[in-house]
Amino acid sequence: MNTIEGKCASEGVARGPVFVVTAPKVEVLEKKTKNSRSEIQRFWTAKEKAKEQIKELLDKSGDDAGSIGASIFEAYIIYLDDGRFKNDVVKMILNENASAAYAVKTIGEKYIEVVDNIKDNPRLRARIVDLEDIINRLILCLEDEDVRIDVPDKPSVIVARDLTPSQFFSIGRENVKGLVIERGSYNSHLAILARTYDIPLIINAKNATLNVSNGQDCALYATKDKFIVLPTDEKIQEIREAIKKDDLEKEKLQRFKGHDTLTHGGERIILYANVSSLEEIDKALKNDAEGVGLFRTEYIYLSSKTLPTEEEQFNIYKEAIEKVDGKTIVFRTVDIGGDKQAPYLEQIPCINPSMGSRGIRFSMNNKKIFKVQLRALYKASYYGKDNVKVMYPMLTVPEEIDWIKGVSKEVEEELIHEKVKYALPEQGVVIETPAAALVADMIAPKVEFMSIGTNDLSQFLYAADRMNSYVDLHDYSDEAMRRIIKNIIKAGEKEGIPVGLCGDLSNNKETLKWVIDAGIKGLSVQPRQILLFRKYIREL
Ligand code: PEP
Ligand code: MG
Repeated sequence: MNTIEGKCASEGVARGPVFVVTAPKVEVLEKKTKNSRSEIQRFWTAKEKAKEQIKELLDKSGDDAGSIGASIFEAYIIYLDDGRFKNDVVKMILNENASAAYAVKTIGEKYIEVVDNIKDNPRLRARIVDLEDIINRLILCLEDEDVRIDVPDKPSVIVARDLTPSQFFSIGRENVKGLVIERGSYNSHLAILARTYDIPLIINAKNATLNVSNGQDCALYATKDKFIVLPTDEKIQEIREAIKKDDLEKEKLQRFKGHDTLTHGGERIILYANVSSLEEIDKALKNDAEGVGLFRTEYIYLSSKTLPTEEEQFNIYKEAIEKVDGKTIVFRTVDIGGDKQAPYLEQIPCINPSMGSRGIRFSMNNKKIFKVQLRALYKASYYGKDNVKVMYPMLTVPEEIDWIKGVSKEVEEELIHEKVKYALPEQGVVIETPAAALVADMIAPKVEFMSIGTNDLSQFLYAADRMNSYVDLHDYSDEAMRRIIKNIIKAGEKEGIPVGLCGDLSNNKETLKWVIDAGIKGLSVQPRQILLFRKYIREL
């Protein structure tokens, strides 16, 4: 038996034979050419061939891919059509008599290096694997090689150095019982796919491919960060029992469906879900969420290749409102910036992007973009029943609310003038900076609700970067956090407006207890935490 440790990126357990996926070897045969013109022609042909292959994968990814698979491959096509990349390759072929494959390899590596150097943007760095995939695919098309990887003929636990979304779909998700990846990141497309399809995944499993061979029996216990090769009977029994216990716990939680979330003392707490896509709303509702307490709308911008239009946004917001069918839904306006950068938007280089032009500051610096979002939100709100709310992230001073109100008024005037149907959603703010928390009493009279964003609030309060695991020293039960949260709740109570909490809470009963004791009546949590928290709260 051999246990390999990794990091869980999608919870779950799997058992089955190992299948090691090795990337096809990509070799550039000739570096130079004597005929640049025909080499450029070969490049165009290979590019079209690669596009065709990706379109095939796009079809294979299926409609139920929650549009994630589709959006990944659509992005691949955009990469392939990127004008700068094409120009750089052609220039190298012409100026240096480089072979097409060598030019693609050299230019491609340069692009990858640039992205790899963006140390403080894990989302963007997670795209390296996509870039590598496209570059390799192009080279293989140029060398007339087959890009296909060996795939298992039965459901297996896939072990790979890294796996691209296209490789994932080539294997076919019915044959993927679990995933063990040597590299990887929580924000990679593969991790998003794994979570979407509930496939257990561990990343950072060092040297996993070197320590296994095809067909070996293995157990993947992603929830516990473990990949066990050739588990002993004892270990299998232990895992089986753990799985049974897990399943039983989940099963037991089902009885909390359809009930109010009441504390022992009879106080009602509302459990909403945090989501970032339409698919996640389905998941949240399936888990009995009482609504959506935070829709992170920036993911609409981040999963798009260009700025999403008013129409595109309107359609998404309307569908979200229809999905919740009268339940509360709180849209948070874009929190672009920080670790969430949209490649098509110019970002001012910044040493501390989480303290830069993000959230409402980004909107203030990009009023046009903000207005488009408000128009789409107000138009979609017409299809709700007073259940739609909008909140604004990263507020620091009350004056920002005055600016928001001014823009909101402009938007309303425009819509009235255009005779467009709309409704004004309830207006609130996310309190997630210590400055805003300290002046919550000045903010409360200007809004209809406040939601505490503990992820950012704790990072700024404790000066502890939320992306840096070495300074993960913030703990909600710490006195500083308690005091600041109580200050916000007091301000809300004084003004008679609701104060909710939408930051990530761990599955910790104690934290939950003191948050509720402090006066929080609405909590927005991960969809999978809803029933567990309902149980915890009933036991309080
Ligand atoms: C927060 O900061 O607590 C929050 C909910 O927002 P995000 O995690 O998207 O920054
Ligand atoms: Mg935040």
